[in-house]
Amino acid sequence: MLAEYGKVKQKNAANFVVIGHVDAGKSTLMGRLLFDLEAVDKRTMEKYKKEAERIGKGSFAFAWVLDQGTEERERGVTIDIATNKFDTDKTSFTILDAPGHQDFVPNMIAGASQADFAVLVIDASPGNFESGLRGQTREHALLAKSIGVQRMIVAVNKMDTVSWSEDRYTEIKTQMSTFLKATRFNLESTAFIPCSGLNGDNILVRSKSADATWYTGPTLVESLDSYEPVTHNLDRPLRMTVGDVFRGGIQNPLSISGRIEAGSLQTGQQILIQPSSETATIKALDLDNDDGEGVREWAVAGQNVILHLTDIDPIHLRSGDVVCQPGKDAIHNITKFTAQILAFNHLTPMNVDVHRGRLHVPGRIAQLVGVLDKKSGEVSRKRPKIVKPEEVVRVVVEVERGVPLESGARVVLRSGGETVGAGLVE
Ligand code: GDP
Repeated sequence: MLAEYGKVKQKNAANFVVIGHVDAGKSTLMGRLLFDLEAVDKRTMEKYKKEAERIGKGSFAFAWVLDQGTEERERGVTIDIATNKFDTDKTSFTILDAPGHQDFVPNMIAGASQADFAVLVIDASPGNFESGLRGQTREHALLAKSIGVQRMIVAVNKMDTVSWSEDRYTEIKTQMSTFLKATRFNLESTAFIPCSGLNGDNILVRSKSADATWYTGPTLVESLDSYEPVTHNLDRPLRMTVGDVFRGGIQNPLSISGRIEAGSLQTGQQILIQPSSETATIKALDLDNDDGEGVREWAVAGQNVILHLTDIDPIHLRSGDVVCQPGKDAIHNITKFTAQILAFNHLTPMNVDVHRGRLHVPGRIAQLVGVLDKKSGEVSRKRPKIVKPEEVVRVVVEVERGVPLESGARVVLRSGGETVGAGLVE
């Protein structure tokens, strides 16, 4: 199967989250991107434009493109938490979690836990960059980093509001670089792009503004396209997180969708679902984000798939479950683990809900092992009684029911409706 995969030229699949302060222009930017790439048809766009003008908010039309996705999601027809897809020559992209939700952080967590990279949108207009950095710009970037998102594209947006001032761009780039470096983001894999989502400058096409000629770097789309997939773990044991479970028609009564994180699978194969520990058989599989006929015999890590299953009762399947192979390479349900957690609130030994993507169970922080130095990763303070927000701490967590977790898994700890920490299982 792997040899076969090497032979056929397939597009890479890449998932990303869009993060940033409220009103930074995330929806507008992504709406514009989908529109320019003709991922949205002109008629739909015209309809939104008319509607937006009717209520006197012409520029909202682009943002509404994304809301269309939200409706679709509510009807349960979309795959995973993905609402928006588009293709470039090299890659099939999925924008995870449409921004602009009320309760953004949990959505962002579910999205970011599957993201290959993040597009961080910054409002360059006077005062707004600064207030954003004190607000969600910082919080989202920290969150993305702490759950293992390695690469970032920083869209320095609304450049039209500062007449494409190069000085303003440089100032923002310098401040953001300092901040990102302090949070251990690799600046070499971080791109900065001055743009205007509203006017479509440097999104698909280069800015035509005479004031913008100083910028000669890539457009947003070019930057997205230069994304090299991280080694997609083809020869590791099968792991796939279930995005959606749906009961389809007569032909395929039970199907699941999701992205293969590691390994490969093929039709006829038996799979194990965790945490229920039930097995199922793959009757057929479809590749998602595929033009035309999607039915395939096999699929590999990095691809989004729909699996049509038999030999399993749907009560054993939920979104957030993990699919693996039965036997020695299975993922196990565990009730206790050590993790490196970035604290968002004060942490002490306390009760928390443990989230792995959409799967969550009640549990507790049983022990604070030590505070870690952000730069070196070494323990700098042993057995603290309490840790402060923005400290990174090694913790022992216990959960009430077994959860499929292993080293490198992204987890989020929540308490009283708030995210108190996020990080990686050791
Ligand atoms: P979100 O909350 O980050 O999704 O932000 P929206 O996309 O809803 O945009 C917030 C406001 O900023 C809206 O009024 C947009 O019209 C406006 N906006 C978005 N992008 C731009 C831009 O590139 N230039 C200007 N001048 N305004 C923009």
